[in-house]
Amino acid sequence: MAQVNTRGSHGALSRCQPRPRMDQERSRPARIAGPGKADLFHVAYVFVFKVREGGCMADMQGGPAAASRPRPLLTRALTLECRRARQLLAAGEWRLSLTDAEAALAVLARLTAPLPARRRSTARTRATDRDRRLQRILRTTVHHLDAGAVSPPAAALLAAVARALLPWHAAPNPPVAAAAPRYGSVQGAREGAPPTEAGEALLPGLTALFTALAATSAPGTVPLTPPVQPWQTRYVGRFRRHTRPATGVWTAETVGCQECGGKDGPWTVTCDWRRTTLGCPCGVVSREHGLCLSEIWLVLPET
Ligand SMILES: [Zn+2]
Repeated sequence: MAQVNTRGSHGALSRCQPRPRMDQERSRPARIAGPGKADLFHVAYVFVFKVREGGCMADMQGGPAAASRPRPLLTRALTLECRRARQLLAAGEWRLSLTDAEAALAVLARLTAPLPARRRSTARTRATDRDRRLQRILRTTVHHLDAGAVSPPAAALLAAVARALLPWHAAPNPPVAAAAPRYGSVQGAREGAPPTEAGEALLPGLTALFTALAATSAPGTVPLTPPVQPWQTRYVGRFRRHTRPATGVWTAETVGCQECGGKDGPWTVTCDWRRTTLGCPCGVVSREHGLCLSEIWLVLPET
């Protein structure tokens, strides 16, 4: 179960409350312990999302050839953010805050985690171990991105790392619950074998950068957080808000405009790496969409 939990209890999930929506697909009611009235109310509106959605999205992406095509890494943002971070470090303009350092150290621990030593290692177990290490880096990164505790420049860097490692969202361990986030499907790529070597090629550079970043928060140093440029982009498509009301139970719903009900955009997405607003074509700008950073950022196409 821990494998599907990429966010902390203090993260955005706790802000998202399940509510009845027409677009929720119902399969089996979630089982939630507790006989109280509040629990009964809860059960009435909690449903597990079917796998069907993933299949529909994949079907839109072409024939069977797409299944074997290696998924490219989206590294443009990562290249930019790493370069920016290195420049800021070289100029002494970024010294991590305590919370940023905690996130950097957590990601660093995943980046430098050794592969497990197995008595009987086969090519298959070795490949799985290598992918699992990359998947853990991704999940730890998304956890700290969505927890909302890091500074904007740290969030920008974590978001870039997460986007680059997106092929490991469901590999080797796919999300257990059908309603858990499926960024790979949303992005339009089939869940084929991830490009392990390309992912591992990122590790030395990321390790060096996160080591240097973490070193800036030595005791006695005063944090210094550089400003970041807000960004804006247009997105044609849907945003999905995921909630985990109980262990192993996920709900997912499509975000709709509070005024016109539109769900497909084109949305004007504005983000300063602290808050993100969604502008609907009808003119309404929403801050209360309930989406986590990853739920927005990881579905946007690379620009
Ligand atoms: Zn609208």
